Amino acid sequence: MDLSLSEAEIAFRDEVRALAASAFPNGETFDRSRAHEQRWHRALLDRGWAVNKWPVAFGGPGWTPTQSFIWEREMMAAGLPTPVGGMGPGMLAPILFAYGTPEQQARFLPDILHDRVRWCQGYSEPGAGSDLASLRTRAVLTGDHYVVDGEKVWTSGAHRADMMFCLTRTSDEPKRQDGITFLLLDMHAPGVTVRPIISIDGRHMFNGVTFDGVRVPAGNRIGREGEGWTVAKGLLTHERTGQAFVSLSLDMLARIRLAASGLPGSDGGSLMDDAGFAARLGWAEVELQALAMTELRTLSEVEAGGAPGAQSSMLKLKGTDIVQRVTEFFVECAGPYAAPWFPETAGQRQTIGPDWAQPEVTRYLEARAASIAGGSDEVQRNIIAKHVLKL
Ligand SMILES: Cc1cc2nc3c(=O)[nH]c(=O)nc-3n(C[C@H](O)[C@H](O)[C@H](O)COP(=O)(O)OP(=O)(O)OC[C@H]3O[C@@H](n4cnc5c(N)ncnc54)[C@H](O)[C@@H]3O)c2cc1C
Repeated sequence: MDLSLSEAEIAFRDEVRALAASAFPNGETFDRSRAHEQRWHRALLDRGWAVNKWPVAFGGPGWTPTQSFIWEREMMAAGLPTPVGGMGPGMLAPILFAYGTPEQQARFLPDILHDRVRWCQGYSEPGAGSDLASLRTRAVLTGDHYVVDGEKVWTSGAHRADMMFCLTRTSDEPKRQDGITFLLLDMHAPGVTVRPIISIDGRHMFNGVTFDGVRVPAGNRIGREGEGWTVAKGLLTHERTGQAFVSLSLDMLARIRLAASGLPGSDGGSLMDDAGFAARLGWAEVELQALAMTELRTLSEVEAGGAPGAQSSMLKLKGTDIVQRVTEFFVECAGPYAAPWFPETAGQRQTIGPDWAQPEVTRYLEARAASIAGGSDEVQRNIIAKHVLKL
């Protein structure tokens, strides 16, 4: 596969850069605030680029896989989020395209496109993580509503979400997967309680969510009752394809080269001149290029109307391995400045060492969770063994 850009693709890349520069002119950088997010989202909507992977019929730009790839690389380099809106555009929307009724598509997709409604994912439960089919949150159809009781855990962003796409048990079948139903639940409904779980880095991302007699309209069921497992698995393949982290790793490798060029190596030159360091970095780059091609191939198939399938597990597994190794280079470069960082004292103490050290070491710590999020490494290996190697 030829990864060099054609003239048209270079022109497209320049257009992308121009859009980013016009939304944040005069060296201003995106600061992750809601105001900046809204400004950026407005610029994307005006340009018709808010949801790059959506089909044209639903508002997507109709890009080639290479254009999507260029887009993601440029966004990563500019530090801009894409798409804006968290789990709605990238995870739920493809499921609505495939399994939603026209009424459900008309009801939910515009709010996702315009970032009016934020979504969270209610899959994991205490006792149901890797073995997701053992989930026990119960939904009972009563008239035109389901009544939901149970508990979810590790729900990222539940405290900021308006809606949850969640898995519920509607019947007890001999095969546990057969009794699961996929529902869209209003997080502001009576009976929903969100409890924060603060992680070791002091951040609030995770939550526990309990449901006590929560009423969900039957029209919020995606697919048929008892067929939620198929919907859930489809969603996971989109989640995992998004966890290849290619653009992030590429961006970090470029910055590691810069950082290492300014650090002393063993023979009087820079760390980048150190043959051992350069060889290890080079090897990570080679593997990343191979992963990038696999991602492009998968994107081509998806854009031709296919679903990612077990390939998503390969992308996620290898992408996790590479992103974790890449963050380790930063820790190596930071040396003694990669000391533990305590968020409660941030801003009160003068930090020492290069400016990049602290954020990159934080990213190194965050990257450890990639082995678990979206299904653990071991679970991905099991999927590859079964569905790719047919073992
Ligand atoms: C950053 C992050 C964000 C997350 N966000 C969400 C979210 O928004 N919504 C949500 O629903 N969940 C979320 N999760 C939860 C995540 O999906 C689960 O943590 C994951 O599926 C693993 O489940 P568990 O934690 O119960 O671990 P367990 O399933 O108890 O696994 C424990 C260990 O046993 C291993 N193991 C289990 N079964 C097997 C097997 N059959 N073969 C070999 N090894 C096995 C696992 O690999 C793991 O190492 C998130 C997790 C993380 C880390």
